Amino acid sequence: MIFLRVAIPSPLRRYFDYLPPDHAEIGTYQPGIRVKVPFGRRELVGLLLEVVTETDVPLNKLKPVTEILDSTPLQPQYIRDLALWAADYYQHPIGDALLQSLPVFLRKGGEGVASHTYLWQVMPDTSAANLSDKAHQQQALYQLIAEHPQGISKEAIRAEGGQTSLLTTLENKNLIIKFKQTHSLPEAEHLIKEAPLPLHPEQQNALQQITQQKGFNTFLLDGITGSGKTEVYLQAIHEVLKKGLQALILVPEIGLTPQTLQRFKSRFRVPVVALHSSLTDKQRFDAWMQAAQGEAPIVIGTRSAIFTPLKSPGIIIIDEEHDSSFKQQEGFRYSARDLAVVRAHAEQVPIVLGSATPSLESLHNCAQQRYQHLTIRARAGNASAPQFQLMDIKRLSLNNGLSSELITQIQQHLQQGTQVLVFINRRGFAPSLICHDCGALAECKRCDARMTLHQKPAHLHCHHCDSQRPIPVCCDQCGSHALKPVGAGTERTEQTLNKLFPDTPILRVDRDSTARKGSMAKIMDQVHKGSPCILVGTQMLAKGHHFPKVTLVAILDADSGLFSTDFRGMERTAQMIIQVAGRAGRADHPGKVILQTHHAEHPLLTLLATKGYEVFAQEELKLRQQYQLPPYQHIAIIRAEAPHSGRAEGFLHSIKEQQSAFFSQIQWSGPFPSPMEKRAGVFRSQLILSSQSRPLLQHSLSHLCPGIEDHPLASRIRWSIDVDPYDMH
Ligand SMILES: [Zn+2]
Ligand SMILES: [Zn+2]
Ligand SMILES: [Zn+2]
Repeated sequence: MIFLRVAIPSPLRRYFDYLPPDHAEIGTYQPGIRVKVPFGRRELVGLLLEVVTETDVPLNKLKPVTEILDSTPLQPQYIRDLALWAADYYQHPIGDALLQSLPVFLRKGGEGVASHTYLWQVMPDTSAANLSDKAHQQQALYQLIAEHPQGISKEAIRAEGGQTSLLTTLENKNLIIKFKQTHSLPEAEHLIKEAPLPLHPEQQNALQQITQQKGFNTFLLDGITGSGKTEVYLQAIHEVLKKGLQALILVPEIGLTPQTLQRFKSRFRVPVVALHSSLTDKQRFDAWMQAAQGEAPIVIGTRSAIFTPLKSPGIIIIDEEHDSSFKQQEGFRYSARDLAVVRAHAEQVPIVLGSATPSLESLHNCAQQRYQHLTIRARAGNASAPQFQLMDIKRLSLNNGLSSELITQIQQHLQQGTQVLVFINRRGFAPSLICHDCGALAECKRCDARMTLHQKPAHLHCHHCDSQRPIPVCCDQCGSHALKPVGAGTERTEQTLNKLFPDTPILRVDRDSTARKGSMAKIMDQVHKGSPCILVGTQMLAKGHHFPKVTLVAILDADSGLFSTDFRGMERTAQMIIQVAGRAGRADHPGKVILQTHHAEHPLLTLLATKGYEVFAQEELKLRQQYQLPPYQHIAIIRAEAPHSGRAEGFLHSIKEQQSAFFSQIQWSGPFPSPMEKRAGVFRSQLILSSQSRPLLQHSLSHLCPGIEDHPLASRIRWSIDVDPYDMH
């Protein structure tokens, strides 16, 4: 008797046994195939883990599998192993982890067959003369197809004005033939479309290090903005393609722009597959298949693309490795960057982590000789690095957040005919609305947070739970009508700049102004025309885009992250400042960066502005070591939430009481309320577990999680575990 052991997307940390399907001949069931199974009152798609001959479940409780979906597994074993490794490391239920490593289309039970593009060619030894003179449209179609000896697709025929409805007619007359498009790759010497750029010595060295060794090695490509990291990637990929291997490139969520793709597409004469969010589930699956079958030599995607199989892996590249979007912050909380290193090791290929502002973890890994540190400190071309100025705004009167000195400098740069970028990391009109009579603030009813005031259209908006409501006419505490906006967001800054510079276009870039499709491209078009303008925006401006004409970058509030309760607050602030600053002073325009601050004497901020990110990072690492914080300490957070105050905390208390004695070698701190205790109507609490030894923490967690799962309250409380959390909230 055999049983099928199946992984199911369920929150339970276990697998489930089933009987083979009814009436099925006893076949061979290969691990990795998808099966449809009854689960409770539902039917789910699961993945066969193994075929076993014994089960702990009484026979009369076992149900048969409803349907076998695949005859052979669509996903190679090593991707399944990667997902299992991640489930184990991140303490995530294996079924959910495995299913998440598949494209959504397959998770939903879609048929595992990729759609093909078909092409038509004319049959040899035929001509248009084989058609009647009167069949004008058939003649035209035949001619059109004859002009494409390599074959032409239906879309292309339609685009050139051909009648696709007549294809079958010509096929039946044996004048044309239909065939499946295959992607045969060009010969090694014809891979390149556009000549590579010349490399300066540091780039040259980096390229050599990356390409000369065989097998696994992790490189941190630490290159300032404008130093030509992408050119190093492109040339390293070229070497990989020459060997007939594939490249996988992961970029931040916001970084998968048409410009990024264009750089790859215009360099190489090979298919570049992009796994981006605007694809349908089926299109994503087709792209996934092209990667898996080796038809796509270059695969670019965001976080979840880490689970895309490659037929012949040659290199993995993580661009902007410090970016927070590589860590999934809910559900299966994996870090795609860290998994990429595990994957590269398993596949024995080199991996390149690139950034102008590397994460402290990666810098620490270099110091520990785990990663090889490749630095590029020279800018490509003859561009010079921007000059930083810390502008002390203590006691100065500000015009909606802009000091008069800053306004003068903006004026000067515009007069020189260049562009200005004003960075403020708060969207909306003002971060809060206050009653001038009693001081009451407009607060969100579902969160411990203030509502952001928007003017276009006018409403109050909570950026934590997305609640919205109309702007009140009077204070709900005292009835006064004297309600005033406090502080400035992008909308207000835009309005202020419009008044100050009525003749200059002010372009606002934030989630609200770019919500409509195509609006971002429109703004970028105007900026790239090059005439003077002021860009106002949030961190959307800090990523990916290049503004060669911007000579002044003004950061209105450099202080927001300086005193964060999150130990990464300072690191993130520094990365954001350097990333925004990096938009200025490219090509032949030297750039200037002004940081408005109330803490011009802040040691780390001063260090960053005068000595740069590298020196800053070394200092910050010393502090992390002193306070025993990551990367010198490994941590995991157990979070719990419940709709009643105190219940989540009580649950975590009880976990700690029951378990901490068994796992006394690791540190337990908490439980305490999360920094924002109430959010979207629930009360949240957290317990932090830490250890200097990663294996010790791992070992403890893997024994602890089943204990939490079995806790009598576990089913009534939402709880989760976050290993190597990126966000402490
Ligand atoms: Zn009031
Ligand atoms: Zn809003
Ligand atoms: Zn809210």
